[in-house]
Amino acid sequence: MSERVIPLIDQRLRSRPVAVPSQPIPASGLLGDTLGRPLRDLRISVTDRCNFRCSYCMPKEVFDKDYQYLPHSALLTFEEITRVAQQFVAHGVQKIRLTGGEPLLRKNLEILIAQLAALRTADGQPLDLTLTTNGSLLARKAQALKDAGLQRVTVSLDGLDDATFRAMNDVDFPVADVLAGIEAAQRVGLGPIKVNMVVKRGTNDDQILPMARHFKGTGIVLRFIEYMDVGATNGWRMDEVLPSAEVVARLSAELPLVPLSPAAPGETAERWGYADGSGEIGVISSVTHAFCRDCNRARLSTEGQLYLCLFATHGHDLRPLIRGGASDEELASAIAAIWQQRDDRYSELRASLPPDTAVGGRRIEMSYIGG
Ligand code: SAM
Repeated sequence: MSERVIPLIDQRLRSRPVAVPSQPIPASGLLGDTLGRPLRDLRISVTDRCNFRCSYCMPKEVFDKDYQYLPHSALLTFEEITRVAQQFVAHGVQKIRLTGGEPLLRKNLEILIAQLAALRTADGQPLDLTLTTNGSLLARKAQALKDAGLQRVTVSLDGLDDATFRAMNDVDFPVADVLAGIEAAQRVGLGPIKVNMVVKRGTNDDQILPMARHFKGTGIVLRFIEYMDVGATNGWRMDEVLPSAEVVARLSAELPLVPLSPAAPGETAERWGYADGSGEIGVISSVTHAFCRDCNRARLSTEGQLYLCLFATHGHDLRPLIRGGASDEELASAIAAIWQQRDDRYSELRASLPPDTAVGGRRIEMSYIGG
C-alpha cells in the first residue's frame, strides 16, 4: 500500500487578485467561458466547519482540535453573499446551492435563504434554491428552512448499516438521526429530495443495494458518487474508486435499470430509471467519465473567493471588491471577466497528469470551497 502524505500547508491563502475591467461587461445572461460554457449554477459555501469527519473529506488527523477555521470576521455576511449572488443571477445563474462545510451549522441560515429566495432571474423567474447537508440537524430545521423559501435539499448518506455509517462519519453519528432528517424534509415538502452516497470500494460498497432497496419507490432520488481526488488531505487512491459502471451493473443484477435522458443541461448525474417504473437513481462519475464539457458551475467560498473548478488550486478573491466600495456594475463586470477567461477541465485531463502530481498537493479542500 502506498504511503499517505497529508500536507499541512494552508491552501486557502492562494488567490488571484481580481481587477475590474476598464470596459463594463453588461449582464446579458449569455456569458460564456473559453469553451463556450454558460454560467448557470452557483454553489455558495456558508461555513468551512462541519460536525462530521468523513475521511474522504475532512479527515480527523488534519481537521483536529488545533485546526484553524476561518475567523468570523472573514466570513461574508448574509448581505454580502446576497449582493454577490445577485450579480451572478444577472449573468445567467438559475440555481443556487448552499453548501460548506455543513451549511446548517451557520447561525440564522434561514435569513440568508429568505434573501436568496427573493432574487429573480432576468425573465422574472425564482431561482432553483437548494442546499446540501449531512442531515444531522435536518429533523430540527426542516420546517424553518421550508418557511424561509428553500425549495429542496440534497442529503449526504453513505450507508444504512449503522456501524458502517458511524465509521464513515468518524464522529459516531447514528444513521437513524439522518433518516429522521430525510423524513422531516419529505414531510415539510423540501423535495424532490436527493440522497448522495459516496462509494468507497472496500468501505461501503456493500451498502449500494441496501440503499437502493430502501429508497426505491419513495420518490427520493439516490445518487452514487465516485470517490473523488478532491483536496489534498484524503489520501485518495484509484483502487478505492468503484466505477459507476460497476454500481449500475451491481444494481441491475437485482433491480433492472433503463437509461434516462438528462433532466437539464450540465447535470452532474447520469440518470437511470427502475424498469418497473418505481423511480430513478443517478451516478456521478467525475473520475471515470469526466463531465467538464458541460460544467456550468461556479463556487463562492465562505470568505468570498470565486472558484471555477472543484479541483482548483487558486481562487479569485472578490472580497476586496465587495468590502472596498466597488459598485454592483464593477462587481458584475469583474465576475464576468473571470468567467470569460475560464478554461478549467481538470477531470478530463486527470488521466494524463503524472501520478502524485504537484497539482494534487495544492488542490483546495472541498470543505472550504463547498461540495
Ligand atoms: N456537509 C454537507 C454534506 O455533507 O453534504 C455539504 C458539504 S459536502 C463537502 C458536499 C458533498 O461532497 C457531500 O455529498 C460529500 O459526500 C461529498 N464529498 C466530499 N468529499 C468527497 C470526495 N472525496 N469524493 C466524492 N464526494 C465527496
